[in-house]
Amino acid sequence: MNRTTPRFDTLAAARYTSAPPSESPEQKRTNLETVFGMNVFGLHEMKERLPEPQFEALQSTMRNGTDLDPSVADAVAHAMKDWALEKGATHYTHWFQPLTGSTAEKHDSFLKPTGDGRAITAFSGSALVQGEPDASSFPSGGLRATFEARGYTAWDPTSPAFLMEGPGGAYLCIPTAFASWAGDALDKKTPLLRSIHAIDEQGRRALKLFGSPPKAVRATCGPEQEYFLVDEEFFYRRPDLITTGRTLFGTKPPKGQEMDDHYFGSIPARVLEYMNEVELELYKLGVPVTTRHNEVAPGQFEMAPIYEDANPAADHQQLMMSTLRRVARNYGLVCLLHEKPFQGINGSGKHLNWSIGTSEQNLLEPGETPHDNMQFLFFTAAVLRAVARHQDLLRASVAHAGNDHRLGANEAPPAIISAFVGDQLQDIFEQIEKAGEAKTSKSGGLMGLGVNVLPRLPKHAGDRNRTSPFAFTGNKWEFRALGSSQSVSFPATVLNTIVAESIDELCTLLEADLEKGVAFDEALRALLASEIPQFKHIVFNGDNYSEEWVVEAEKRGLLNLRNTMDALPKIVDPKNVALFEKYGVLSHRELESRYEIYVEQYFMTINIEGETGQHMAQTMILPAATRYLSELLTTAERADDVGLRAEGVLATARHVMELVNQLTDMLAVLASQNQELGGDTILSKAEHMRSNIIPALTAVRDVVDRLERVVPDDLWPVPTYRDMLFVK
Ligand code: ADP
Ligand code: MG
Repeated sequence: MNRTTPRFDTLAAARYTSAPPSESPEQKRTNLETVFGMNVFGLHEMKERLPEPQFEALQSTMRNGTDLDPSVADAVAHAMKDWALEKGATHYTHWFQPLTGSTAEKHDSFLKPTGDGRAITAFSGSALVQGEPDASSFPSGGLRATFEARGYTAWDPTSPAFLMEGPGGAYLCIPTAFASWAGDALDKKTPLLRSIHAIDEQGRRALKLFGSPPKAVRATCGPEQEYFLVDEEFFYRRPDLITTGRTLFGTKPPKGQEMDDHYFGSIPARVLEYMNEVELELYKLGVPVTTRHNEVAPGQFEMAPIYEDANPAADHQQLMMSTLRRVARNYGLVCLLHEKPFQGINGSGKHLNWSIGTSEQNLLEPGETPHDNMQFLFFTAAVLRAVARHQDLLRASVAHAGNDHRLGANEAPPAIISAFVGDQLQDIFEQIEKAGEAKTSKSGGLMGLGVNVLPRLPKHAGDRNRTSPFAFTGNKWEFRALGSSQSVSFPATVLNTIVAESIDELCTLLEADLEKGVAFDEALRALLASEIPQFKHIVFNGDNYSEEWVVEAEKRGLLNLRNTMDALPKIVDPKNVALFEKYGVLSHRELESRYEIYVEQYFMTINIEGETGQHMAQTMILPAATRYLSELLTTAERADDVGLRAEGVLATARHVMELVNQLTDMLAVLASQNQELGGDTILSKAEHMRSNIIPALTAVRDVVDRLERVVPDDLWPVPTYRDMLFVK
């Protein structure tokens, strides 16, 4: 019998042949310099189009946050409109980042009827500066009663407007902040901007003590993005991928990532075409993506930009995620940004590279001899001190349902926050702690490769440590615990704020000493010597995946907040409320609302997974298994007639039967847990998800995955890992 099932259709359909090139190779060799930023209304464009006084006024607003004169706003709006119309735009939108974690837009046309049956185009300064989207459908966590739907968007002149192009036409996007009618921040950008202000203020104060030029101090971010690609033919045959972004079932393929043959391997042709288009689209938007490569898992890839100021970097990171998703469809692919699309192989993270600096110097650049770079040591101590004190907040800033599959799962950093500093810094801190000052820096020297034609490479003073959640990587910190799907805004806000506090407190101590007449160098050395013992417990240079570290970390008193529901309450811990209020980053109300929203998101995520799992197991897996069973029984019945030993067939049937019975039982448990929502409050519902739904779903998965190994391939109703992960 030749039985064709949807799965086999799918496998055939997924054989991709690349589209014939629509452009000549000549055309394709796009001139990067002309393309980059061509759809951005940036400084360059403003300078060309604005009268000089208005341009100066705008620059001053961008640099120093001074109020914007309405006439300047009008001039900018006018120039922006002309530019957008020339590029074919018909609409504009305030583009903002509600607490859902993605971006939102509401389009308005540039058209203005003149009353005589005709129309002109118009865009005023006030329409540029302020918008009023209906806010009622965005999460507000109790900040805005539902009858009060009003929300405002406010233009952020520090992130440039850009033009989105598509088959449906082009429109102008204006980055904005989003607040409630009462002025509470309902978005991710506002607190980030406030934290950028805090770090600037404290950073300048510290630079002044060091006698450095009083330049603006900026936080910089470069987020590395991991993602998976699957063929859309498979995607649409997996209800779990469609509704939850991850596979709820699926047994490990015979070949997983064991061979390490994918990592840094040559990029498959279809994927390379895709990456080229993603990059081209991002270049047009002025997003400086630069690195691309295969990741460890089959089907997994990575992309990273050159770092920028934290605010545009966060906006650009959102554009990266949406572009990765959108362009994939042109190649018959779906881009999965979920932290753990496939069990048993690596998940996806996002490394947030972070530093602070002025236009002239990176304040975390150690130089050749870090032991006598007192300014570097001061800022580095400030960072470590902040991480030690606020491990809980850093952990909470990356807490969400998807990331629970990664943190602590021996592929991503553990849920325990610690900091890797490397041998060189470790040694300097030890010298300071013992002797009150450091006299030497261990150096890496040059590394000969034993072949004269190869250059001698400068050797870094420490190897990289891939297992640390927060690692010093030469002249920046790499916060590696972020999930691939999340916005970088909140983690960056937390980093900026905790480091601002730390710099603030260290400056206060220094200033007190200076007041007493202590010499600056002496005061600084004494300060470092007294601070190091207080934060050194956060430093760990060893293997974060090891069992010993969990034990050791507990001895050191470090927190181990294993899952989202353990971590989220830290957001409203009194210590953290005081911190955010002190620096004007988030009010108590705004924090409470975030806590509530994140708990609710956790609840909804797991709730959907529970329901989807139940539905798939009930309507797809169980029928496939019983069909097989009935085939086996029929065969066994007729076995004697044809001389087949019924015993063998019956043994298989018994095994399948056992699994079917187990699945029926486990499914009953999951169904009843799904039925019961876990009480009246959002917190009790979320707790129910963690304590009851996740274990029930895991138990169902366990049986389903065992069934997948015995049910005939042509009866299995969904694409398998083997199908999905290795199609190029
Ligand atoms: P590594 O190989 O150590 O990860 P890379 O130079 O490849 O270092 O940088 C990785 C990411 O870190 C890139 O996105 C890069 O832009 C970013 N990065 C580099 N310097 C800084 C900095 N000063 N501030 C923020 N991010 C940075
Ligand atoms: Mg890196």
